[in-house]
Amino acid sequence: MKRIGVLCLLLCLLLCGCGGDQPVKGTHFAMDTVLSFTVYGAKGKQALAEAETLMDELDAALSVTDENSQIARYNRGEPDALSPETERLIRQGDALEKETEGAFSPRLGALTGLWGFSSDTPHRPEREALEAAKGDRSRLDLGGIAKGYAAGRLREAWEALGIKSALAALGGNVLALGEKPDGSPWRIGIRDPFGGQEDLLGALEVRDTCVVTSGGYERNFTEDGVTYHHILDPETGFPADSGLASVTVVCRDAARADALSTALFVLGREKALDFWRGSEGLELILVEQDGTVTVTDGLWDAFSGTGEDFTYVREA
Ligand code: AMP
Ligand code: MG
Repeated sequence: MKRIGVLCLLLCLLLCGCGGDQPVKGTHFAMDTVLSFTVYGAKGKQALAEAETLMDELDAALSVTDENSQIARYNRGEPDALSPETERLIRQGDALEKETEGAFSPRLGALTGLWGFSSDTPHRPEREALEAAKGDRSRLDLGGIAKGYAAGRLREAWEALGIKSALAALGGNVLALGEKPDGSPWRIGIRDPFGGQEDLLGALEVRDTCVVTSGGYERNFTEDGVTYHHILDPETGFPADSGLASVTVVCRDAARADALSTALFVLGREKALDFWRGSEGLELILVEQDGTVTVTDGLWDAFSGTGEDFTYVREA
């Protein structure tokens, strides 16, 4: 009997132990990108399954390419296609458009559709078509905010499960929930916008926040020797040409972080820093085309630059 008791105890320890200090990891394809998840705690597996379901749901609702999505249906002239939740997200997008003086807009669907960055055949539009699409705000494209919104929803779902320590990377959107189980911060790699997928220009140590990077390297095509990327300046209708190669935003509000990474990329270094001076709870890493990396004060100690070809500057 005693031996059975010991065996049971051992079995129990084995079964419970797997949720303790080893994370559950997984990848999933949705929102046109590879999503990766790392979750610590006993409910790791459940957290992963919920994450996959949630990402698929939001993708199905918000995708601009999936012809059954709410966005596609709205763009085809069905105003009732939007759920109250999607309408709320669009209102947040509209507020960000005001706040960024038009640099971000959730209503650039006519323009982004014309360039076709989400299609298999992106191309430089004719000038007349471009002029018409530039002023057209009748179509939605939430591509600049949807992944961040998804990251925020994921945080809610995981917190409801009692998860205290997890990381999610949704394309350039990283959600860092809590800290590592040993109390140390998460270490997030910041991509080198001039290098390949694995190249970094530095690393950032963070706790319980979102880190979102936008850059022209994410999606682009070359036509007649000119490379065009997917972040459009609503004023010109052309890919933003502000001197920035990438913008990293650190901010707890995930959707806001995502929209701002896009907007500040459009606005350029000086206006981005003005915006930073006027905002609470926001920190930035701005990478210029000439290799200058500006790190705002609140991130300086948490950031370590590793790229040899970069000059690192602290903005106080
Ligand atoms: P991100 O990768 O977050 O910077 O978002 C880029 C995506 O947002 C593009 O693929 C477009 O779908 C959309 N987009 C492009 N330019 C803008 C803009 N100025 N404001 C809002 N969304 C944009
Ligand atoms: Mg964005």
